[in-house]
Amino acid sequence: MAAHQFTPRFYELFQCIGDRCEDNCCHDWAITIDKKTYQRYVTHPDQLIQSTAKTRIKRTRKAENNWAVITLDETGKCPFLTEGLCQIHTRAGPQALSHTCQNYPRVISRFANNQRLSLTLSCPEACRQVLLNPDALLMGVSPLAGYHPLQPLPPATLQLHQYSLDILLTEGLSVEEKLWLIGLLIHRDSSTLSNEAFLGQISQLIEDRQLTAVFSQLPFISQVQWKALRNLTYLQVLNAQTGSQRGQPTMQRCLEQIQQLLAGEFNTDRLGKLHETWHREVAPFLAARPHILQNYLVYYVYHHFPHQPPKSPQQCYRLLIADYFLLRSYLCLLAMEGKLTEQDVVNLFYSYHSLRQHNRDFEDAIDKVLTEHGENMDLTLYALLQTAVAP
Ligand code: SF4
Repeated sequence: MAAHQFTPRFYELFQCIGDRCEDNCCHDWAITIDKKTYQRYVTHPDQLIQSTAKTRIKRTRKAENNWAVITLDETGKCPFLTEGLCQIHTRAGPQALSHTCQNYPRVISRFANNQRLSLTLSCPEACRQVLLNPDALLMGVSPLAGYHPLQPLPPATLQLHQYSLDILLTEGLSVEEKLWLIGLLIHRDSSTLSNEAFLGQISQLIEDRQLTAVFSQLPFISQVQWKALRNLTYLQVLNAQTGSQRGQPTMQRCLEQIQQLLAGEFNTDRLGKLHETWHREVAPFLAARPHILQNYLVYYVYHHFPHQPPKSPQQCYRLLIADYFLLRSYLCLLAMEGKLTEQDVVNLFYSYHSLRQHNRDFEDAIDKVLTEHGENMDLTLYALLQTAVAP
């Protein structure tokens, strides 16, 4: 089978904005250096590069592509950064940059027989490109040159991946309904009725406008939302205190809001304020910009959902719902502070993903919150998608 390369529009349009960046990645970030680059720097003819490399790059020798790490200065800044300019880039050219610095935030991955190009959302400009451009997820497909051994994937996983994309692209459903449908597919046993036949039945329900009525019958379990929001946010911010500082200010603002709003014992009225803000401020803001959540979710599935070994498809789905629930809640918290802007959206998504991508405890915590609140984990999970009825 011929191999193809997928290139989304957001990838093509991305350009690092350097000193105009709101959270430059030359700060507060473990910058690893490969072996060849390390050796080039410590013997470089440019004296500033050589002496900075000798004094500020520490050899770790973990792997050829993770040979050393740059020691940041006391303000958390890369020692090669002067007046917003990278001295390696300026004095030796972009080709002299380490693999990490040259490529970040670009990612190249294989999915089955194809190669997928993308960006990581821990970069603010990547978030802007992915979330704010209605055409960001338009996809260019071209033949992939060279030999590319097939990387077989379970057919059921490939099918779930494709159906998840199809559901997200279905018109006439809310974001929450789409996520719920993906959950039904992920959790169902397809031995008696195929997923295809199941989706056929669902499409009839969509046409008859009955699906929304069924979704609205799902329970709204406010205790689960209360606990998930408090526990998972503490975990995110706590993790950040021991790791990278990038993305901290926005997440800290969210945590402070949670400490005020959800302090003490569970209280429906206080959680209700969050939902009021959703209906009054955030939902209309997002309805005027439907591409923000749509792009985020298509981007999410494009990144191999639900195939992220060793996680099962069910675990991948739990993470998807937890991410969506938290980001939606944080948008409400930010909107409680003042009128929501697109810059708030960029700040939130890059901050969240800067912290989230290095947090291994997050997945365990999600399972804990869900199992504490019910026998039926699927139903408890869907409860995170519900919002209290509009006032
Ligand atoms: S975070 Fe992104 S936009 Fe900002 S400096 Fe790094 S690569 Fe450039």
